[in-house]
Amino acid sequence: MTPQIATVGDRSEAPAPASRSRSAALIEAPQPTVAVIALWAFVVIPFLALLAAVPVAWGWGLSYVDLSILAVGYVLAGFGITVGFHRYLTHGAFRASRSLRIGLVVAGSLAIEGSATQWVADHRRHHAFSDREGDPHSPWRYGQSIRGLAKGLFFAHCGWLLKREPSNRGRVCDAGLWRYSRHPNYFFEWLVWVAYFVFALASPWGWLAIIGPVSILWLLLRVTGIPMAEEQSLRSRGDAFRRYQQTTSAFIPWFPKRST
Ligand SMILES: [Zn+2]
Repeated sequence: MTPQIATVGDRSEAPAPASRSRSAALIEAPQPTVAVIALWAFVVIPFLALLAAVPVAWGWGLSYVDLSILAVGYVLAGFGITVGFHRYLTHGAFRASRSLRIGLVVAGSLAIEGSATQWVADHRRHHAFSDREGDPHSPWRYGQSIRGLAKGLFFAHCGWLLKREPSNRGRVCDAGLWRYSRHPNYFFEWLVWVAYFVFALASPWGWLAIIGPVSILWLLLRVTGIPMAEEQSLRSRGDAFRRYQQTTSAFIPWFPKRST
């Protein structure tokens, strides 16, 4: 009989990938009491502060309309994240009809935790690297001092939204819009400036607004935008990025060339 490690929880949690053994554990020993107390304080005090903010910011309290909007919004967004993004999209815990699927994604998006795709990618990474290097939701990444925990707690909740993960090191994103352009974000930002120019045409001397899109285009293509971003990508991603450059349009989205 093969020995098995008992697992708690449902089987829908993502299986551990082979790479788990390669990344370092962020904590080895049990957490010290002071760390646990600090964690509780970080969880409870902001919530109490929120309650205290109600009379301060609104005058004296909330009406039933306010409370109903809060309750409905909270439940919708909460189920959207826990049932939709987490159980359904990340772990495939159940099957859903097309309309339920769309409803869950819309509800989850109300929580303003980013796109469903990004959320699922981050959460799968969290399961793959739990409390190890590469886990976006571990509060232990900055050590066990109070300061480290405060930083870690912030990172686990919000900071991960802003930072690239080490498990992505050396990899090039060539999916979605990035399949057609190496810098679709710059391209669409530029289109916004083109739109200002078009609006401006309605007024006398409006054509002068052409300065906007032209100067932004020059900055993006020649000065700060693409040159600097690509320099950085070549340094951090090397050949993988060089191959990407050969096949994919730099700016205007276009079909990728076959790599040679
Ligand atoms: Zn999960």
